[in-house]
Amino acid sequence: MSEYTLTSKNFYKALKQKQLIGSKCQVCGSYAIPQRQICPKCHSDQNEITTYVGSGTLKAFTVIFVPPVKMAEAGYNAKNPYCVGIVELDEGPRISAQILDVDILQPENIKIGTKMEMTTITRGEEADQTTFLAFRPA
Ligand SMILES: [Zn+2]
Repeated sequence: MSEYTLTSKNFYKALKQKQLIGSKCQVCGSYAIPQRQICPKCHSDQNEITTYVGSGTLKAFTVIFVPPVKMAEAGYNAKNPYCVGIVELDEGPRISAQILDVDILQPENIKIGTKMEMTTITRGEEADQTTFLAFRPA
């Protein structure tokens, strides 16, 4: 039994504990991430929290040179770009997240199909800290 419920706040609460949670439909077996109360595939409301192993495969990526405000505030810009990718978790669902420890300035060296493992990034000052999901090559 997980300590988390299907409400969306729990996704970030779990990330702080370095846990990647989602939901698994008890009717059709589909996974969702973040967790959902209604199964995206069969629309059943029989969903339970599941904790992902946190490993997957890089399916797509892009390097961002012109960041949105929040990322600019975090120090990213044209001279300090960052990579965002879509990772397919071993359990099946896909999620986008920042990709760390890859050759951002030579993106031709970043390979689709690379095995990834989850990590987290914490940004902000103490009272205002948020933990974000990220991946890096396993
Ligand atoms: Zn379902």
